[in-house]
Amino acid sequence: MSETTPGAAAPSSNFIRQIIEEDVRTGKWRGRIATRFPPEPNGYLHLGHAKSICLNFGLARDYGGECHLRFDDTNPVKEEQEYVDSIIDAVRWLGFDWGDHLHFASDYFERFYGFAEHLIRRGKAYVDSLGAEEIRAYRGTLTEVGRDSPYRARGADESLDLFRRMRAGEFPDGAHVLRARIDMASPNLNLRDPVLYRIRRATHHRTGDAWCIYPMYDYAHCVSDAIERITHSICTLEFEDHRPLYDWVLDELADVLPWHSRQVEFARLNLTYTVLSKRKLIELVGSGAVEGWDDPRLPTLAGVRRRGFTPEAIRMFAERIGVAKADSWIEMGVLEDCLREDLNERAPRRIAVLDPLRLTIDNYPEGAVESCEAPNHPQHPERGTRPLPFSRELWIEREDFAETPPRGFFRLAPDAEVRLRYAYVVRCTGVEKDAAGRITTVHCRYDPDTRSGTPGAASRKVKGNIHWLSTAHAQSSELRLYDRLFRVPEAGAADSREALNPDSKRILTAFTEPALSQALPEERFQFERHGYFIADRSDGAPGRPVFNRAVSLRDSWSGRRG
Ligand code: ATP
Ligand code: MG
Repeated sequence: MSETTPGAAAPSSNFIRQIIEEDVRTGKWRGRIATRFPPEPNGYLHLGHAKSICLNFGLARDYGGECHLRFDDTNPVKEEQEYVDSIIDAVRWLGFDWGDHLHFASDYFERFYGFAEHLIRRGKAYVDSLGAEEIRAYRGTLTEVGRDSPYRARGADESLDLFRRMRAGEFPDGAHVLRARIDMASPNLNLRDPVLYRIRRATHHRTGDAWCIYPMYDYAHCVSDAIERITHSICTLEFEDHRPLYDWVLDELADVLPWHSRQVEFARLNLTYTVLSKRKLIELVGSGAVEGWDDPRLPTLAGVRRRGFTPEAIRMFAERIGVAKADSWIEMGVLEDCLREDLNERAPRRIAVLDPLRLTIDNYPEGAVESCEAPNHPQHPERGTRPLPFSRELWIEREDFAETPPRGFFRLAPDAEVRLRYAYVVRCTGVEKDAAGRITTVHCRYDPDTRSGTPGAASRKVKGNIHWLSTAHAQSSELRLYDRLFRVPEAGAADSREALNPDSKRILTAFTEPALSQALPEERFQFERHGYFIADRSDGAPGRPVFNRAVSLRDSWSGRRG
């Protein structure tokens, strides 16, 4: 991956790094460091996953190890190839490389099955014939111990026979399950003989109809980790209570699968004004509240990519928020600041007029055009300039003129002077209005001795400096201004539909400078004073790009949080 993330500092330490450093010091894994990112292909990845991706791949990179991309594809009912493809795309876009280590839990189905038979033979698992409802009822509660299933006493031979016939398809869905034989009185409900396998006639996106029994996550996950000789199996806090089961399975399989990965939990990312849950995202997409998985308002990686976020900004964000053991909320502004920091340095400057008002320079020769030089980046003269055609008729922003200027207004007003950036100083001489009293044209006179870059420009001080475009040369472009998807910060807790921000997307037609017609899909720019924009990768056509605003130049929300 790129070593040149702007603003990236040396990774700061955290409790996971301390565990790994201690393991390296004691030689626990004999020098091996292997992590994995294990998505279930049942939805698109979101910014929460990005935290986990950056963590897992970042640790492998920093400690000379490997990080596997493993699809946890053990539930055929919810999983699809489309999701697999989108996940591969997103991880690669974020800048990470799994080398030879692209794995699928479904590739281990035969081995999972063999290990399950091993557990049965050792008396550690049995086939139960209670229904799902009964199993739940027998399981007990936090305050009440569980009861043994009447089938718990089944011998290994009988269970083995039934399990083989389950695989062979002799029984309908739900007729039997395979359960671990652990402890129905355990205070940890996950240890009350958890189900390891169930019958489910469903076509799997990779194994087709080869199987009609599928392993449960708690069984498949730890076994996959051990098969791949993962050293640190990093997951989110909700799996803390599952760790004893993770360890139990690997302990019981130690003689046939002699590898015991260590599960380490960290706090998931919660981000204000959005939701980071595949289930809630599926609802938003399915209900039509947004326009697909890559809607630029969504926190999916496909969405933030289209919105204009850079992989560098997301990696900087992951580094900045760190990892901790306690859940917390991160302000959306933190992520946006990372993007501003990255793009401020990288994005070429361009001009767009969003709310145009005509400006006529009465003493400028009609039909004349001259070329002004506008720098591509104010701090990087080596990045050159582009020509901006200047003429008698210009567009300026309506808000840059005030007929009765408030105190401290340094832009254009009757009889006031302002610099047209990269061009001349003009003085306002009057306005024209339509029948409704709305200003249609502002009239000015320019001072030919004040052209930017000439000695006269330096001697002429004016406070205001506004941007403009020549009306004959500007092109009109579709701009999409996005805002937060939800109006409430802790959107995950609220009823999603109620909390949606009705103004999260605004489309307008703006004037843009000539150079922008050449923008390529996914090229990013700073539109001076308006924010960072990206040429949309899906909409628009060659020569007629459509621009999405990724973020404004300043955070307009930070004061709004109650
Ligand atoms: P969701 O809750 O959105 O459905 P999930 O945890 O079910 O997500 P998986 O595909 O199982 O989704 O996740 C793959 C990995 O990403 C897991 O290791 C999971 O812990 C991690 N992950 C998921 N959401 C977050 C989050 N918000 N912050 C950090 N890591 C996350
Ligand atoms: Mg999950």
